[in-house]
Amino acid sequence: MKLSEIKAIFQNELSELYSKSEIEELFSIFCESFLELNKIELRHNRDKDISEIDLKKFSEAISELKTGKPFQQILGETEFYGMKFFVNEHVLIPRPETEELLELAINKIQEKSKKNQIIDIGQFEGPREPQPDNVNGFDQANSITLGLSNIPLKILDIGTGSGIIPIILKKYFPEAQIFAIDISKDALDIAKKNANFHKTEIKFIQKDYLNEVFDSIQTDNEVFDIIISNPPYIGIEENPEIEDSVKGFEPNIALFSPTSDALIFYRKIAEDSKNHLAENGMVFLEINQKLGKETLELFQNFSEAELLKDISGNNRMIFVRK
Ligand code: GLN
Repeated sequence: MKLSEIKAIFQNELSELYSKSEIEELFSIFCESFLELNKIELRHNRDKDISEIDLKKFSEAISELKTGKPFQQILGETEFYGMKFFVNEHVLIPRPETEELLELAINKIQEKSKKNQIIDIGQFEGPREPQPDNVNGFDQANSITLGLSNIPLKILDIGTGSGIIPIILKKYFPEAQIFAIDISKDALDIAKKNANFHKTEIKFIQKDYLNEVFDSIQTDNEVFDIIISNPPYIGIEENPEIEDSVKGFEPNIALFSPTSDALIFYRKIAEDSKNHLAENGMVFLEINQKLGKETLELFQNFSEAELLKDISGNNRMIFVRK
């Protein structure tokens, strides 16, 4: 069978679920994965004969796509911040909003490191422009670190899921000591696999953040320079608004607040930041766009607390400095 014929089958079989352009995009994603053909190469290979083995892969992908399963779960991987990450049904598929949260955190931590270095060593040549590895393709792990700071910051990520946040921070700040907690052992298995793939050392801890005392995270002092989190923030009452392709396939525990209080994680983070965030320490949070003001209010006693919008103009992040 020729590639163009498979494309026609994609269009036919998936037309009820996806638009024509979405199907086009999905087709090229699977061609890239199964045949290693990029979009431009695809155009020149319409007449390419597809082997039995690849044909089987395409037909399995179509059956899975027809159930509404996200393509990232079918492939078992996704791209985030220019890097490859493994995903499965136990972790949230990373969203572009979280790339914005990371960008904010990286910039603010760099500023902080720069200031500290001027104080510490009297001279600092300014940051080298960091480049996430594998920007042009994401099938290779790369052990090059993007080190800018030699300050051993202590960072805590709450509700790490697939581990994207600590892994990327470790790439940028290789001297940082990074702790990442999650309630789900299955999620942590994927996070560890990702950390190994990217050759980053993170201390992953299985922990029910809301119901356990803070100081079971580690044995030495319990004060962090940076606390970062993208906790489950969708209110229970918002459930009907969430697409089936999301709530039917991604872990609801990572999406929906566990109680009727959609701010429960944020309240605890604000409370814990009193005792467990260093002086001048910073907090970075992804938030529910509808609860910007309410979330910000929880941090009004800190020296800085700022509500920031994402690229779509929605209230999406909170930045706090103690
Ligand atoms: N942004 C995600 C979504 O809307 C939710 C992420 C979260 O709850 N932390 O699907």
